[in-house]
Amino acid sequence: MAIIAFIGLGNMGTPLAANAVKAGHTVRGYDISAERRDAAASHGVAVSREVAEAAAGVDILVTMLNAGPSVIEVWSRAVTVMKAGGLVIDCSTIDVESSRRAHSIAHEAGMLSLDAPVSGGVEGATAGTLTFMVGGEAAAFEAGLPLLEKLGRRIVHCGEAGAGEAAKICNNMILGINMIAVSEAFLLADGLGLSHQALFDVASNASGQCYALTTHCPVPGPVPTSAANHDYRPGFAAELMAKDLRLSQECARFAGAETPLGHAASALYERFIGKDGRGVDYAGIIRFLATLKDEVPMARAGG
Ligand code: NAD
Repeated sequence: MAIIAFIGLGNMGTPLAANAVKAGHTVRGYDISAERRDAAASHGVAVSREVAEAAAGVDILVTMLNAGPSVIEVWSRAVTVMKAGGLVIDCSTIDVESSRRAHSIAHEAGMLSLDAPVSGGVEGATAGTLTFMVGGEAAAFEAGLPLLEKLGRRIVHCGEAGAGEAAKICNNMILGINMIAVSEAFLLADGLGLSHQALFDVASNASGQCYALTTHCPVPGPVPTSAANHDYRPGFAAELMAKDLRLSQECARFAGAETPLGHAASALYERFIGKDGRGVDYAGIIRFLATLKDEVPMARAGG
């Protein structure tokens, strides 16, 4: 069994570390927050007071952090003390450029490396049912697969360094745009006197079918498990969707890709969280979109 260090013991990092403990690995961990270190310790994680202490001599180091600069900072320190030829895996959702920079740091230190962002949220991390989207060389993928298979259900090798992040960011741009499209359709249905259930019954079996409609339906009723039935409690918080859409736009600029709907979706989610969307499920954007009708007549009238 491997010695593994998890850096970033937040909502996602702690359940991942806890599942690695359950799988029989020796698991160390570090987080800048003492509260989060204590919570992870209660799951059998041997917590350290700094990155270098947690990473010293480990076979595998996993980061689960909020932003690219933190990943680069942690990897830079960790690769100098890990076991020679060890494996570094970043499961955070970060921009592709930072991810590739982190891979080069690992490569220059003679380590194997993977970017492996996830889909499935805290529930999936806890239940071990996440999807991992993985970027990196074949040898690194082979080395990481046994651990990832213990932490998730679906492991997809998407390509070279940064390809996992690219897949995650493209996927979530689709989801953000789709949630807005589905919400707009329900608001239009309201105006046309069409019931939510009738629109759902048709679109969920026709060409409008998508995950935002059939799983995260933004109106109460048709999908009883969706956040709309629970006052839009997350679920997947609007600020995380806003972050992922922001990343999509950073990546679009970096890649020279035109994504006008991604751009519009990003702007709408920023406005939503700037108003009252923070801490609300991302499907709650329908409530924000409903408020726009007061602005539209002025715009149409050129006001
Ligand atoms: P979180 O804020 O709960 O956890 C991040 C942790 O990292 C925090 O505990 C923070 O104290 C710690 N941290 C920050 N900088 C650090 C550093 N330099 N060294 C050590 N610890 C540090 O966030 P989360 O919900 O666990 O999300 C982690 C990542 O997973 C994010 O990139 C997020 O976008 C992604 N993600 C989250 C979800 C979700 O549903 N929460 C779903 C998919 C992907």
